[in-house]
Amino acid sequence: MNEIVAAATGRNAAVAPTTDSAEVLAGAGSGADWLARYGEALMGVFGTPQRVLVRGSGCYVWDADGNEYLDLLGGIAVNALGHAHPFVTSVVSSQLATLGHISNFFTSPTQVALAEKLLGLAQAPAGSRVFFTNSGAEALEAAVKLARRNSTPQRHRILALDGAFHGRTMGALALTSKKAYREPFEPLPGGVEHVPFDDVDALRAAMDETVAALVLEPIQGEAGVRPLSPEYLSAARALTREHGALLILDEVQTGIARTGRWFAHQWVDGVLPDAMTLAKGLGGGFPVGALVTFGEDASTLISAGQHGTTFGGNPVATAAGLATLHVLETTGALQHVSDVGAYLREHLSGLQGVTAVRGEGLLIGFDLDGGYAPAAVQAALTAGFIINATGPATLRLAPPLILTTGQAATFLEALPSILTTAREATA
Ligand SMILES: *Cc1c(COP(=O)(O)O)cnc(C)c1O
Repeated sequence: MNEIVAAATGRNAAVAPTTDSAEVLAGAGSGADWLARYGEALMGVFGTPQRVLVRGSGCYVWDADGNEYLDLLGGIAVNALGHAHPFVTSVVSSQLATLGHISNFFTSPTQVALAEKLLGLAQAPAGSRVFFTNSGAEALEAAVKLARRNSTPQRHRILALDGAFHGRTMGALALTSKKAYREPFEPLPGGVEHVPFDDVDALRAAMDETVAALVLEPIQGEAGVRPLSPEYLSAARALTREHGALLILDEVQTGIARTGRWFAHQWVDGVLPDAMTLAKGLGGGFPVGALVTFGEDASTLISAGQHGTTFGGNPVATAAGLATLHVLETTGALQHVSDVGAYLREHLSGLQGVTAVRGEGLLIGFDLDGGYAPAAVQAALTAGFIINATGPATLRLAPPLILTTGQAATFLEALPSILTTAREATA
């Protein structure tokens, strides 16, 4: 193990790495070689990876063939502080070197401190609590169990929205609306119904005393960055309260300063959920997720012994969360994210071929005047930018929150020719 660490960090030349670990960790070998090996070793669920990445720093990553990319996707809204952030790296390393894993028969200061920090940022009332997970889907699984604990034979329905994405495990998948994701795995846990997106009348019609929970993304990420209106979020809060249902907000993608608020629901006055799921940006690239329950009633629905996890809330993951939040808090990230996001949206709006721009802060979706978004992803890579297509005509940006205006400008300058190349390649 020392050999691997030494090879990875290059810090201990006295320990000779084995040929194998040195080659792997140094990213030796061409992209084509690694992709051929990938094809023989990895399950094909992700298709062929776009590139083989070997190194990152700040908002940039490098591939096995030495090409540099400005990362405007941030590992899908995960790398809040970019790549290899020195503070996160040092906190994670020293925590791992001090106490790495302990099981939930024990706790650690980092776990308690991160829970307290999240409750503070969420302005959660007395009695609120945190359950830590390792991913977004696991946070949603816990949320589904919370909803079930608010269920009775009479109160058995869980509402989610058309276009919703909540993850790929069975409970999370039951909340996800896309047929192609769901149908191969049916039957899914029952009781979930999908109601029309951002339609207050439809929600009012669906809500009664049979609803145990309503699950919403304040901005649907995977569906192409589609924000719910403030009116809808307010109505969702009022209607769930009126009928005794839980309002569960999935902030896995929108939380942790992504939209210029700590959590996207904080843009709307008076909307405090009963529960909120987090993951993606929380660990600054290290896997950590959470279910936050608001107030005594929601927090006591799941009692001792009714849920659990081995890795969730481990000292290293929670140290990563603390380090990430510390940097965001002490560097004025919320304002920075709002400013750079506004700059990007303003300039995207004026571009030829861009028909709509959506989002808040550094979660941005924009529509093209044709189905050439996948080709635009390829053209962007060739030009040295990582972006993402959420659909045939929609592109998404979810860059590190430390992206500068200057870095954003290099993308805006390159974009017209990227779009022209993509349009021609698709025609
Ligand atoms: C990514 C995502 C999830 C699933 O998170 P994983 O870590 O991939 O399991 C759930 N909800 C939303 C809104 C997401 O964006």
